[in-house]
Amino acid sequence: MRHLYLHVPFCQRRCSYCDFSIAVRKHVPAREYVDAVLKELHLMLESSPGWLKPGSMPRGSSNAVQSSRAQVSESEGGLETLYLGGGTPSLLPPDALATLLTSLYDVFRVPSSHDVVEVTLEANPEDVTPDVAAAWRRAGVNRVSLGAQSFDDGVLKWMHRSHDATRIGDAVRALRAAGFDNISLDLIFALPAELERDWARDLDLACSLHPAHLSLYGLTVEERTPLARWISRGAAAPPDDDRYAEEYLHAHMRLAACGYDFYEVSNAARDGNRSRHNSAYWSGAAYLGLGPAAHSFDGRARRWNLTGWESYRRTIAAGQPVVEAEEVLTEEQRALERLYLALRTDAGLARSACPPDRLTAWLGEGWAEVEGERVVCRPEGWLRLDALVRDLTGTPGAV
Ligand code: SF4
Repeated sequence: MRHLYLHVPFCQRRCSYCDFSIAVRKHVPAREYVDAVLKELHLMLESSPGWLKPGSMPRGSSNAVQSSRAQVSESEGGLETLYLGGGTPSLLPPDALATLLTSLYDVFRVPSSHDVVEVTLEANPEDVTPDVAAAWRRAGVNRVSLGAQSFDDGVLKWMHRSHDATRIGDAVRALRAAGFDNISLDLIFALPAELERDWARDLDLACSLHPAHLSLYGLTVEERTPLARWISRGAAAPPDDDRYAEEYLHAHMRLAACGYDFYEVSNAARDGNRSRHNSAYWSGAAYLGLGPAAHSFDGRARRWNLTGWESYRRTIAAGQPVVEAEEVLTEEQRALERLYLALRTDAGLARSACPPDRLTAWLGEGWAEVEGERVVCRPEGWLRLDALVRDLTGTPGAV
């Protein structure tokens, strides 16, 4: 187990499109959160010795960790990536974050040169100040994923985001000054036409900040979100597939001109700065998730935690396991997942796994290309990824 995910569920408000498992809080119960997560780890180490071997007592200020008797054995290899996602992890005060990371480094025997491990923190631009950025860096964070979303203040307001466009550049500069050179920006595309969002301008402004990495997400309408309500009463236009395709393909062209390689359907990096954590997910590696709503995978089974912060907190306080359910994947599910994972990245699919008639059709349509012995999706193929998988598995549904 070399990949660890921590879900930090707190946000100061709910964005108009978001249905994630979050807890809206003006004041983040940071100490309680840190103790709960470390206690979850302690309980997991006790109950699942197959994941990690017993060892010496880790240091740490948390009672939960001080009482732990388990630690990763060096013979099992070390942690490679640690990802704090949310929610809004940047709402954790720097001292709470440092306590949490120090305890985790101790349990997982992370070397004193933390940069051996990719440590990513998801952050909202308004939380980044020079002092906070320096504190994150001191705590061992070496990659920051900024929820920029757009450089248009009207769009950011519509999204219920707390920052304005100027805060994005300020945040990037503060992070660089603190020593971060691995910065990723998230942008959302395919917004309703009535917003008159200038996608090309947003891409240009993002590139002008020279982030090492960009993640682009098409807007989706999730039930029980403000966006879904706006659409149902006609106050916002429903999703437009043509706009989605047009903006997605434009992003490929524009970012390639700026030196970025799309290495996954939604992710582009320059100078090889791929997300090692997300790449592990896409390679089918095992990972451990801690915190409410976190998922784990051991290569055979997937399990997930209670989603609500309050139920998670109460269950941990009672010393009970917080796993809500577990699903053991069938061989058929694993094969389907392998197909998806292969096609969604630039690793592609083994040529031998693609029947010759399908390959000919895909090449003819410009959906894929052959690189050596691999079949790799082109952007036009990534736009219809589900349909390509159905095409290979013989499930009904037009490509
Ligand atoms: S900040 Fe992120 S997690 Fe929080 S409500 Fe907005 S989109 Fe959702």
